[in-house]
Amino acid sequence: MIIPKEDRLNDAQLREITAIVEDFGCRIQVIVGTQRSVYAILGDERSELLISRIEGLPYIDRVDTIQSPHKLMDIRSDLASNRIHIGGVTLGEEPLFIAGQCTIDPKEPNLFYETAHAVKEAGGHVLRGGVWKPRTTPHSFQGDSHSLDILLEASRRTGLPVNTEVMEEVHLKAALEADVGMLQIGTRNALNYSLLRKVGEFSGPKERLILLKRGRHMGPVDEFIAAAEYLAAAGNPNILLCPRGTMPSLEGFRSHPDESITPLLKEKTWAPVIVDPSHSVGKSVYVPACALAAIVYGADGLCIETHVDPRRGIGDDPKQAILPDTLKKIIEDARQFWKLREHYRDEAEQVAR
Ligand code: PEP
Ligand code: MN
Repeated sequence: MIIPKEDRLNDAQLREITAIVEDFGCRIQVIVGTQRSVYAILGDERSELLISRIEGLPYIDRVDTIQSPHKLMDIRSDLASNRIHIGGVTLGEEPLFIAGQCTIDPKEPNLFYETAHAVKEAGGHVLRGGVWKPRTTPHSFQGDSHSLDILLEASRRTGLPVNTEVMEEVHLKAALEADVGMLQIGTRNALNYSLLRKVGEFSGPKERLILLKRGRHMGPVDEFIAAAEYLAAAGNPNILLCPRGTMPSLEGFRSHPDESITPLLKEKTWAPVIVDPSHSVGKSVYVPACALAAIVYGADGLCIETHVDPRRGIGDDPKQAILPDTLKKIIEDARQFWKLREHYRDEAEQVAR
Protein backbone atom coordinates (compact mmCIF):
# COMPACT_ATOMS: atom_id res chain seq x y z
CA MET A 1 0.00 0.00 0.00
CA ILE A 2 1.44 3.34 -1.08
CA ILE A 3 1.14 6.27 1.31
CA PRO A 4 1.75 9.65 -0.31
CA LYS A 5 3.04 12.67 1.61
CA GLU A 6 0.00 14.76 0.67
CA ASP A 7 -3.61 13.60 1.11
CA ARG A 8 -3.94 12.57 -2.56
CA LEU A 9 -1.71 12.03 -5.60
CA ASN A 10 -2.25 14.28 -8.58
CA ASP A 11 -2.91 12.78 -12.03
CA ALA A 12 0.72 13.01 -13.20
CA GLN A 13 1.98 11.32 -10.01
CA LEU A 14 -0.61 8.56 -10.32
CA ARG A 15 0.42 7.98 -13.94
CA GLU A 16 4.09 7.75 -12.94
CA ILE A 17 3.37 5.21 -10.20
CA THR A 18 1.04 3.19 -12.40
CA ALA A 19 3.80 2.87 -15.01
CA ILE A 20 6.27 1.61 -12.37
CA VAL A 21 3.96 -1.05 -10.92
CA GLU A 22 2.92 -2.20 -14.40
CA ASP A 23 6.58 -2.96 -15.11
CA PHE A 24 6.31 -5.51 -12.29
CA GLY A 25 3.02 -6.98 -13.55
CA CYS A 26 0.94 -5.23 -10.86
CA ARG A 27 -1.73 -2.54 -10.99
CA ILE A 28 -2.90 0.27 -8.73
CA GLN A 29 -6.26 0.49 -6.97
CA VAL A 30 -7.13 3.94 -5.65
CA ILE A 31 -8.91 3.81 -2.29
CA VAL A 32 -10.54 7.11 -1.48
CA GLY A 33 -10.76 7.58 2.27
CA THR A 34 -12.51 10.43 4.01
CA GLN A 35 -9.20 11.93 5.19
CA ARG A 36 -6.81 10.80 2.48
CA SER A 37 -6.43 8.37 -0.36
CA VAL A 38 -4.18 5.35 -0.31
CA TYR A 39 -3.03 3.39 -3.33
CA ALA A 40 -3.06 -0.39 -3.12
CA ILE A 41 -0.66 -2.37 -5.30
CA LEU A 42 -2.64 -5.32 -6.63
CA GLY A 43 -0.43 -8.25 -7.52
CA ASP A 44 2.75 -9.35 -5.81
CA GLU A 45 4.11 -6.18 -4.25
CA ARG A 46 6.98 -7.82 -2.39
CA SER A 47 9.67 -7.11 -4.94
CA GLU A 48 12.28 -5.00 -3.15
CA LEU A 49 13.09 -3.17 -6.34
CA LEU A 50 9.45 -2.20 -6.89
CA ILE A 51 9.18 -0.87 -3.34
CA SER A 52 12.43 1.08 -3.45
CA ARG A 53 11.55 2.66 -6.82
CA ILE A 54 8.26 3.92 -5.41
CA GLU A 55 9.76 4.98 -2.08
CA GLY A 56 12.36 6.93 -4.02
CA LEU A 57 9.73 9.26 -5.46
CA PRO A 58 9.79 12.66 -3.74
CA TYR A 59 6.02 12.77 -3.11
CA ILE A 60 5.84 9.33 -1.44
CA ASP A 61 6.00 8.92 2.31
CA ARG A 62 6.34 5.11 2.38
CA VAL A 63 5.09 1.78 1.09
CA ASP A 64 3.42 -0.45 3.71
CA THR A 65 3.86 -4.15 3.06
CA ILE A 66 1.71 -5.62 5.82
CA GLN A 67 1.64 -9.41 5.52
CA SER A 68 -1.97 -10.07 6.37
CA PRO A 69 -4.85 -11.68 4.46
CA HIS A 70 -6.65 -8.38 4.98
CA LYS A 71 -3.93 -5.80 4.77
CA LEU A 72 -6.25 -2.87 4.00
CA MET A 73 -8.63 -3.64 6.86
CA ASP A 74 -5.78 -4.55 9.23
CA ILE A 75 -5.48 -2.42 12.34
CA ARG A 76 -1.87 -1.61 11.29
CA SER A 77 -3.02 -0.33 7.90
CA ASP A 78 -2.78 3.34 7.03
CA LEU A 79 -6.55 3.27 6.56
CA ALA A 80 -6.81 3.13 10.36
CA SER A 81 -6.70 6.93 10.19
CA ASN A 82 -9.86 6.88 8.02
CA ARG A 83 -12.70 8.63 9.84
CA ILE A 84 -16.23 7.63 8.87
CA HIS A 85 -19.03 10.15 9.30
CA ILE A 86 -22.78 9.91 8.92
CA GLY A 87 -25.83 11.60 10.41
CA GLY A 88 -23.70 14.07 12.37
CA VAL A 89 -21.69 11.28 14.04
CA THR A 90 -18.00 10.53 13.62
CA LEU A 91 -17.70 6.81 14.24
CA GLY A 92 -15.74 6.05 17.38
CA GLU A 93 -16.45 9.39 19.01
CA GLU A 94 -20.03 8.62 20.05
CA PRO A 95 -22.38 5.67 19.42
CA LEU A 96 -24.18 5.56 16.07
CA PHE A 97 -27.83 4.46 16.07
CA ILE A 98 -29.42 3.08 12.91
CA ALA A 99 -33.09 2.23 13.30
CA GLY A 100 -36.26 1.74 11.32
CA GLN A 101 -38.44 -0.92 9.80
CA CYS A 102 -37.19 -4.27 8.56
CA THR A 103 -39.33 -3.81 5.48
CA ILE A 104 -41.14 -0.86 3.93
CA ASP A 105 -44.70 -1.82 3.07
CA PRO A 106 -45.38 -0.12 -0.28
CA LYS A 107 -49.10 -0.12 0.54
CA GLU A 108 -48.50 1.74 3.82
CA PRO A 109 -46.15 4.63 3.13
CA ASN A 110 -47.58 6.66 6.00
CA LEU A 111 -46.67 3.98 8.47
CA PHE A 112 -43.05 4.30 7.34
CA TYR A 113 -43.16 8.08 7.59
CA GLU A 114 -44.46 7.77 11.14
CA THR A 115 -41.70 5.31 11.99
CA ALA A 116 -39.14 7.65 10.44
CA HIS A 117 -40.26 10.60 12.56
CA ALA A 118 -40.35 8.42 15.67
CA VAL A 119 -36.82 7.14 15.02
CA LYS A 120 -35.59 10.69 14.71
CA GLU A 121 -37.45 11.73 17.85
CA ALA A 122 -35.92 8.80 19.76
CA GLY A 123 -32.40 9.93 18.82
CA GLY A 124 -31.65 7.74 15.78
CA HIS A 125 -29.03 9.01 13.34
CA VAL A 126 -29.73 6.83 10.29
CA LEU A 127 -33.10 5.53 9.10
CA ARG A 128 -33.18 1.94 7.92
CA GLY A 129 -35.86 0.59 5.61
CA GLY A 130 -35.80 -2.57 3.53
CA VAL A 131 -36.77 -1.94 -0.10
CA TRP A 132 -35.57 -5.25 -1.61
CA LYS A 133 -35.73 -8.21 0.76
CA PRO A 134 -33.82 -11.51 0.81
CA ARG A 135 -36.48 -13.97 1.95
CA THR A 136 -36.00 -17.58 2.91
CA THR A 137 -38.87 -18.70 0.69
CA PRO A 138 -39.66 -17.40 -2.80
CA HIS A 139 -43.33 -17.19 -1.83
CA SER A 140 -42.74 -14.43 0.75
CA PHE A 141 -42.88 -10.73 -0.13
CA GLN A 142 -39.62 -9.93 -1.94
CA GLY A 143 -39.72 -6.15 -1.61
CA ASP A 144 -40.77 -3.56 -4.16
CA SER A 145 -38.72 -0.94 -6.01
CA HIS A 146 -41.48 1.62 -5.34
CA SER A 147 -40.46 1.52 -1.70
CA LEU A 148 -37.25 3.31 -2.66
CA ASP A 149 -39.32 6.47 -3.28
CA ILE A 150 -40.93 6.06 0.15
CA LEU A 151 -37.51 5.68 1.75
CA LEU A 152 -36.23 8.83 0.04
CA GLU A 153 -39.36 10.79 0.93
CA ALA A 154 -38.92 9.76 4.59
CA SER A 155 -35.32 10.94 4.38
CA ARG A 156 -36.45 14.32 2.98
CA ARG A 157 -39.13 14.70 5.66
CA THR A 158 -36.83 13.88 8.57
CA GLY A 159 -33.44 14.97 7.27
CA LEU A 160 -32.04 11.54 8.26
CA PRO A 161 -29.64 9.67 5.96
CA VAL A 162 -30.93 6.23 4.97
CA ASN A 163 -29.76 2.62 4.83
CA THR A 164 -31.11 -0.12 2.60
CA GLU A 165 -29.95 -3.56 1.50
CA VAL A 166 -28.77 -4.20 -2.05
CA MET A 167 -28.63 -7.74 -3.39
CA GLU A 168 -27.82 -7.26 -7.04
CA GLU A 169 -26.42 -4.75 -9.50
CA VAL A 170 -29.78 -3.18 -10.40
CA HIS A 171 -30.45 -2.45 -6.71
CA LEU A 172 -26.95 -1.09 -6.31
CA LYS A 173 -27.32 1.26 -9.27
CA ALA A 174 -30.76 2.44 -8.16
CA ALA A 175 -29.56 3.06 -4.59
CA LEU A 176 -26.48 4.93 -5.84
CA GLU A 177 -28.51 7.10 -8.21
CA ALA A 178 -30.84 7.88 -5.32
CA ASP A 179 -29.52 9.52 -2.21
CA VAL A 180 -28.95 6.36 -0.16
CA GLY A 181 -26.07 7.18 2.19
CA MET A 182 -25.51 3.66 3.53
CA LEU A 183 -25.71 0.47 1.49
CA GLN A 184 -26.32 -2.75 3.38
CA ILE A 185 -24.93 -6.12 2.37
CA GLY A 186 -26.99 -8.76 4.12
CA THR A 187 -25.88 -11.91 5.85
CA ARG A 188 -26.71 -14.06 2.83
CA ASN A 189 -24.48 -12.03 0.52
CA ALA A 190 -21.59 -11.50 2.91
CA LEU A 191 -19.58 -14.10 0.96
CA ASN A 192 -20.84 -13.10 -2.48
CA TYR A 193 -17.45 -11.86 -3.64
CA SER A 194 -18.60 -10.63 -7.04
CA LEU A 195 -21.31 -8.50 -5.40
CA LEU A 196 -18.80 -7.23 -2.80
CA ARG A 197 -16.45 -6.19 -5.60
CA LYS A 198 -19.20 -4.37 -7.48
CA VAL A 199 -20.43 -2.58 -4.37
CA GLY A 200 -16.89 -1.48 -3.50
CA GLU A 201 -16.13 -0.35 -7.04
CA PHE A 202 -19.35 1.58 -7.72
CA SER A 203 -19.89 3.10 -4.28
CA GLY A 204 -16.27 4.15 -3.62
CA PRO A 205 -16.19 7.22 -5.87
CA LYS A 206 -19.52 8.36 -4.39
CA GLU A 207 -18.18 7.99 -0.85
CA ARG A 208 -21.20 6.02 0.38
CA LEU A 209 -20.99 3.91 3.52
CA ILE A 210 -21.36 0.14 3.49
CA LEU A 211 -22.88 -1.83 6.37
CA LEU A 212 -21.53 -5.37 5.92
CA LYS A 213 -23.47 -7.95 7.92
CA ARG A 214 -21.60 -10.97 9.21
CA GLY A 215 -22.44 -14.06 7.14
CA ARG A 216 -24.56 -16.35 9.26
CA HIS A 217 -22.41 -19.34 8.35
CA MET A 218 -19.12 -17.55 8.80
CA GLY A 219 -16.57 -19.06 11.12
CA PRO A 220 -13.40 -17.24 12.21
CA VAL A 221 -13.49 -13.47 12.45
CA ASP A 222 -10.80 -13.35 9.74
CA GLU A 223 -13.35 -14.60 7.22
CA PHE A 224 -15.56 -11.62 8.06
CA ILE A 225 -12.70 -9.13 7.83
CA ALA A 226 -11.57 -10.67 4.54
CA ALA A 227 -15.06 -10.09 3.10
CA ALA A 228 -14.69 -6.41 4.07
CA GLU A 229 -11.27 -6.47 2.40
CA TYR A 230 -13.03 -7.15 -0.92
CA LEU A 231 -14.97 -3.89 -0.53
CA ALA A 232 -11.89 -1.89 0.38
CA ALA A 233 -9.74 -3.47 -2.34
CA ALA A 234 -12.42 -2.58 -4.89
CA GLY A 235 -12.26 1.06 -3.84
CA ASN A 236 -14.48 1.79 -0.83
CA PRO A 237 -13.02 1.70 2.69
CA ASN A 238 -16.05 3.32 4.35
CA ILE A 239 -17.11 0.04 5.90
CA LEU A 240 -19.02 -0.77 9.07
CA LEU A 241 -18.87 -4.39 10.28
CA CYS A 242 -22.17 -5.71 11.56
CA PRO A 243 -22.38 -8.88 13.68
CA ARG A 244 -25.99 -10.07 13.48
CA GLY A 245 -25.95 -13.61 14.89
CA THR A 246 -24.84 -16.86 13.29
CA MET A 247 -26.13 -20.39 12.66
CA PRO A 248 -26.98 -22.82 14.17
CA SER A 249 -29.21 -20.75 16.36
CA LEU A 250 -29.21 -20.96 20.14
CA GLU A 251 -32.55 -22.58 20.92
CA GLY A 252 -35.03 -19.83 21.68
CA PHE A 253 -33.15 -17.18 19.74
CA ARG A 254 -33.35 -16.58 16.00
CA SER A 255 -29.55 -16.93 15.63
CA HIS A 256 -26.58 -17.53 17.88
CA PRO A 257 -25.97 -14.06 19.31
CA ASP A 258 -22.45 -12.87 18.45
CA GLU A 259 -22.10 -9.39 19.93
CA SER A 260 -19.23 -10.86 21.98
CA ILE A 261 -16.99 -11.01 18.90
CA THR A 262 -16.80 -7.20 18.95
CA PRO A 263 -13.50 -6.97 20.91
CA LEU A 264 -11.97 -9.68 18.69
CA LEU A 265 -12.81 -7.66 15.60
CA LYS A 266 -11.53 -4.48 17.16
CA GLU A 267 -8.19 -6.06 17.94
CA LYS A 268 -7.65 -6.98 14.30
CA THR A 269 -9.26 -4.23 12.28
CA TRP A 270 -9.82 -0.49 12.47
CA ALA A 271 -13.35 -0.80 11.03
CA PRO A 272 -16.17 0.37 13.29
CA VAL A 273 -18.45 -2.38 14.61
CA ILE A 274 -22.22 -1.85 14.52
CA VAL A 275 -24.13 -4.70 16.14
CA ASP A 276 -27.60 -5.73 14.95
CA PRO A 277 -29.37 -7.27 17.97
CA SER A 278 -32.68 -7.68 16.09
CA HIS A 279 -31.63 -10.48 13.73
CA SER A 280 -29.42 -11.94 16.42
CA VAL A 281 -32.08 -12.71 19.05
CA GLY A 282 -35.10 -12.32 16.77
CA LYS A 283 -37.65 -11.37 19.37
CA SER A 284 -38.40 -7.81 20.45
CA VAL A 285 -38.32 -8.53 24.21
CA TYR A 286 -34.75 -9.83 23.99
CA VAL A 287 -33.46 -6.92 21.90
CA PRO A 288 -32.65 -4.36 24.65
CA ALA A 289 -30.31 -6.68 26.59
CA CYS A 290 -28.49 -7.77 23.44
CA ALA A 291 -28.18 -4.16 22.27
CA LEU A 292 -26.72 -2.95 25.56
CA ALA A 293 -24.42 -5.97 25.85
CA ALA A 294 -23.02 -5.04 22.44
CA ILE A 295 -22.17 -1.56 23.64
CA VAL A 296 -20.51 -3.00 26.74
CA TYR A 297 -18.45 -5.27 24.49
CA GLY A 298 -17.16 -2.18 22.70
CA ALA A 299 -19.49 -1.74 19.72
CA ASP A 300 -19.43 1.63 17.94
CA GLY A 301 -23.17 1.57 17.39
CA LEU A 302 -26.33 -0.42 16.85
CA CYS A 303 -28.71 -1.23 14.02
CA ILE A 304 -32.16 -2.01 15.44
CA GLU A 305 -35.45 -2.84 13.75
CA THR A 306 -38.02 -0.38 15.05
CA HIS A 307 -41.64 0.16 14.05
CA VAL A 308 -44.43 2.43 15.30
CA ASP A 309 -46.88 -0.48 15.18
CA PRO A 310 -45.05 -3.81 14.76
CA ARG A 311 -48.32 -5.79 14.54
CA ARG A 312 -49.11 -3.95 11.30
CA GLY A 313 -45.58 -4.48 9.96
CA ILE A 314 -44.38 -6.98 7.36
CA GLY A 315 -41.15 -8.99 7.04
CA ASP A 316 -39.48 -9.36 10.44
CA ASP A 317 -41.27 -6.43 12.04
CA PRO A 318 -44.16 -8.23 13.78
CA LYS A 319 -41.70 -10.49 15.64
CA GLN A 320 -38.63 -8.46 16.33
CA ALA A 321 -39.21 -4.72 15.83
CA ILE A 322 -39.15 -2.70 19.04
CA LEU A 323 -41.29 0.36 19.67
CA PRO A 324 -39.77 3.83 19.36
CA ASP A 325 -40.12 4.38 23.13
CA THR A 326 -37.96 1.33 23.74
CA LEU A 327 -35.46 2.59 21.17
CA LYS A 328 -35.27 5.89 23.04
CA LYS A 329 -34.48 4.09 26.32
CA ILE A 330 -31.87 1.89 24.66
CA ILE A 331 -30.19 4.97 23.18
CA GLU A 332 -30.10 6.72 26.55
CA ASP A 333 -28.76 3.65 28.34
CA ALA A 334 -26.27 2.88 25.58
CA ARG A 335 -24.79 6.35 26.04
CA GLN A 336 -24.35 5.62 29.77
CA PHE A 337 -22.67 2.26 29.08
CA TRP A 338 -20.46 3.92 26.46
CA LYS A 339 -19.17 6.27 29.17
CA LEU A 340 -18.62 3.38 31.62
CA ARG A 341 -16.34 1.70 29.08
CA GLU A 342 -13.79 4.41 29.83
CA HIS A 343 -13.14 2.64 33.17
CA TYR A 344 -11.69 -0.33 31.34
CA ARG A 345 -9.95 1.45 28.49
CA ASP A 346 -6.44 1.05 29.93
CA GLU A 347 -6.87 -2.71 30.36
CA ALA A 348 -8.37 -3.03 26.87
CA GLU A 349 -5.40 -1.20 25.36
CA GLN A 350 -2.97 -3.46 27.21
CA VAL A 351 -4.70 -6.54 25.76
CA ALA A 352 -4.53 -5.04 22.27
CA ARG A 353 -0.75 -4.52 22.67
C1 PEP B 1 -32.43 -7.11 7.44
O1 PEP B 1 -31.63 -6.24 7.84
O2 PEP B 1 -33.66 -6.97 7.42
C2 PEP B 1 -31.86 -8.40 7.03
C3 PEP B 1 -32.47 -9.20 6.15
O3 PEP B 1 -30.70 -8.66 7.64
P1 PEP B 1 -29.77 -9.96 7.62
O4 PEP B 1 -29.12 -9.95 6.27
O5 PEP B 1 -28.83 -9.74 8.75
O6 PEP B 1 -30.68 -11.16 7.81
MN1 MN C 1 -35.15 -7.86 8.97
